Amino acid sequence: MPGPKGPGLHVTYFPAPMQILAKCPKCDAGLPVRADDGATAITCGGCGRDIPLTISEALKTDRAVDRCPVCEGNDFYIRKDFDPKVGLTVIVIGAIVSGVFYWFGKDLIAYSILAAAALIDLVVYGRLKDLTVCYRCHSEFRGMYERRAPAFDLHTADVLELEYERRIGRR
Ligand SMILES: [Zn+2]
Ligand SMILES: [Zn+2]
Repeated sequence: MPGPKGPGLHVTYFPAPMQILAKCPKCDAGLPVRADDGATAITCGGCGRDIPLTISEALKTDRAVDRCPVCEGNDFYIRKDFDPKVGLTVIVIGAIVSGVFYWFGKDLIAYSILAAAALIDLVVYGRLKDLTVCYRCHSEFRGMYERRAPAFDLHTADVLELEYERRIGRR
């Protein structure tokens, strides 16, 4: 089972159809759903809650993210589909290898390795696809559709999250 943050780097190569990671309103577990399999409800594996899904036509056909199937909101942002653990691993390994060379007095090689590790991180980050995230319930959407949502805005997030949590009775 992939965690709530998604399965990691390889999701970049998800083929059609669109993949939805629905977030349970009660316990925030991430539940993978294929947009085209016509599900009208899923059961949360974490807390057992039934979650009704309203999957729009645009989602089913991977054309656009227009309405969230979980909370029916239509406010989304995009972010890079990046697993911070992977980036950190590259840096940590780079630092260890670099440390070995530094120990043996090869300063220049040591610094080059560190720089290379940082560069790999940057390149990987730049090549990642964007995913779309629902402001209210944090459900995630991955597919070939054209990204139209704006970048993350903290103020919008504060307002919409509060509205959603009041609606589902979490506040
Ligand atoms: Zn749950
Ligand atoms: Zn939502």
